[in-house]
Amino acid sequence: MASSHTVLMRLVASAYSVAQKAGMIVRRVIADGDLGVVEKTCATDLQTKADRLVQMSICSSLARKFPKLTIIGEEDLPSEEVDHELIEEGQWEEILKQPCPSQYSTIKEEDLVVWVDPLDGTKEYTEGLLDNVTVLIGIAYEGKAIAGIINQPYYNYQAGPDAVLGRTIWGVLGLGAFGFQLKEVPAGKHIITTTRSHSNKLVIDCVTAMNPDEVLRVGGAGNKIIQLIEGKASAYIFASPGCKKWDTCAPEVILHAVGGKLTDIHGNALQYNKEVKHMNSAGVLATLRNYDYYASRVPESIKNALVP
Ligand code: AMP
Ligand code: MG
Ligand code: MG
Repeated sequence: MASSHTVLMRLVASAYSVAQKAGMIVRRVIADGDLGVVEKTCATDLQTKADRLVQMSICSSLARKFPKLTIIGEEDLPSEEVDHELIEEGQWEEILKQPCPSQYSTIKEEDLVVWVDPLDGTKEYTEGLLDNVTVLIGIAYEGKAIAGIINQPYYNYQAGPDAVLGRTIWGVLGLGAFGFQLKEVPAGKHIITTTRSHSNKLVIDCVTAMNPDEVLRVGGAGNKIIQLIEGKASAYIFASPGCKKWDTCAPEVILHAVGGKLTDIHGNALQYNKEVKHMNSAGVLATLRNYDYYASRVPESIKNALVP
């Protein structure tokens, strides 16, 4: 019997369960103690066993259920049979109880592009900064990010042995974002969050130009968007290439679903169609509120240095 649910909502419900399994894999690799670190382009561009296993898990699980999807994952992996243990077949029933926004009700599987960052914040993961780590599954339609799932495997890990570890945040444009408490930074306070492991002169100069009250340097694009929606930071600024489409797709949806804005450093919306180049060459500027304050302070010299 055909499902009464739309393709988009079935995909989001499945991706939620897949992201939860991904979080378990991320924790298991740490518990097993062998991270299997590989350098990709340089010493700050790493891949671990968790990045590899989680990407296999997410991509295989979604491709089995939705064979016509385009799925783009961060890691280059040899195509091999995926261990059955890595496959997640569940779907989160609570999501299926939600209405699909009408503009997405007729979307077909083959029209969707899924951007997967199996582990965002790998450098920090290898250094034990575990709450910086997220698993990101972003869903795009006609080049626009429309749905996203963020699992934070080590949410609560400093809250004591009885705390429940990990959480999953999800959202769909036109429906909302769920799995967290929206909070704003006190009015008039400018707290900038930016990279911890991938800084350079442009990044520093742009942050300085914001005249910040405070600067937070943490790992992960997913983690920084969580800081924006939970009132820990007022703007995420990264005036450099380095961040890719799989880093921004899911976080952008969560932020946009609660009224925030994410663009490149020039103010351009990011594109997520399957042919687009992966690199966000012109950086990232994201805020929950007061986007114009930050956008207006990006120096022209920095804009000139970052070509979209
Ligand atoms: P960060 O804020 O440094 O955690 O970066 C956010 C995301 O962009 C992470 O997935 C990083 O791996 C990626 N990224 C940013 N800059 C670079 C870079 N120079 N080389 C490789 N990956 C980068
Ligand atoms: Mg990443
Ligand atoms: Mg990654």
